[in-house]
This record gives sequence, structure tokens and C-alpha cells, in this order.
Amino acid sequence: MKVFVTAGMGWVEVVTGSMFSGKSSELINRLKMAKYAKQSVVAFKHSSDTRYHENKLASHDKMFIEAIPVTTVEDMEKIFFEKYSDSQVIGIDEIQFFNSGAIEFCEKLADMGKRVIVAGLDKDFKGEPFGDMGELLARAEYVDKLQAICAVCGNPATVSQRLINGEPARADDPIVLVGATESYEPRCRRCHEIKK
Ligand code: ZN
Repeated sequence: MKVFVTAGMGWVEVVTGSMFSGKSSELINRLKMAKYAKQSVVAFKHSSDTRYHENKLASHDKMFIEAIPVTTVEDMEKIFFEKYSDSQVIGIDEIQFFNSGAIEFCEKLADMGKRVIVAGLDKDFKGEPFGDMGELLARAEYVDKLQAICAVCGNPATVSQRLINGEPARADDPIVLVGATESYEPRCRRCHEIKK
């Protein structure tokens, strides 16, 4: 567990890694710890993530915390400044799903003295930096990169392997494939495949 001592200064911390690396659990854990420390906490999630519950952040290992579902950074900003601007700690899950204003928003909050904790994928299924995540990782004060376990060989996994009908996806396969069964699994550098 990491303990941060606040002295009126804000910062951005990022929890990143592949799918199934425990990012959401770590985010929820940090937010819960802040609550135990009697700090005011607000959490946001992307509204497309309805895996377990509409108004809660959830992890694969069934940890939960209340979270406000939003679609854009603008919505998040509006709700934050209308209702939660006194919050000391702000959590955002699946940050890679948000539009490009996410980095500016995180930095604005940190400049206001807030502790901003975000979780998100660092790489897409091709192994390339996911959207603005590369920049966010550079700008953040603290970064923790978590590993999953490679589904093929058991080594630490750092990439999300996309599978279509059980086969590695091509780099140019469309995001939505009608009639195909799509899945993801964590893989290491050696086992990660992009179909030619
Ligand atoms: Zn492997």
C-alpha cells in the first residue's frame, strides 16, 4: 500500500497495465483508503462500462465503490464543478475511453490541490500506446504499471491480446465485428500476436 501525505499540493497518479492486471481493484482500493482517512472522494467512470453495475466502479475480483457514469470529459467537469468541487480525491476509471480533454482536466484538478487517481489501459490490442495515455503517463507524478499473467505461458503479461473467433486479430480488423465472437486475454511480449 502506498501512503501519500498531503500538504496542500495536488498531483496525478496513474494505475495502468493490460486488461486483467488489476487496475480497477487498485483504483478502488486507493479510493477506499482515502475514505478511511476521512478524505472526501468522488469517482467517475465511462458510461459505456456497465460490466457489473451502472453507478459503481467494479473490479473483476468484485470490489465496488460508488461512481458517477459520464460519457465525456465535459460532462465530468460540469458535474464535478457543480457538486463535488470540495472533494479532495478524484478517481477516474478507464481514462483511455475519454476524449482528449482528459489530460487537461486531470492537470487542472491537480493544480487545484486535488489528488487525482486514474486507471486505464496503456496499450491497445496492437501493443501501441492507447490514445493519449502515453502523454498522461509522462505528465503524471506517479505511475504504477501492473502486470497480468500471460494466458499462454504464465509469464508476466503486458499486452491485451484481441481474439476473433479464437484467433489473433489483424491490426486492421474493425472494432465492431458483426457475428464474430470477440474476446481479450492478457499476454506477454513473446506470446502477443497480430495476425498478418
Ligand atoms: Zn507468454
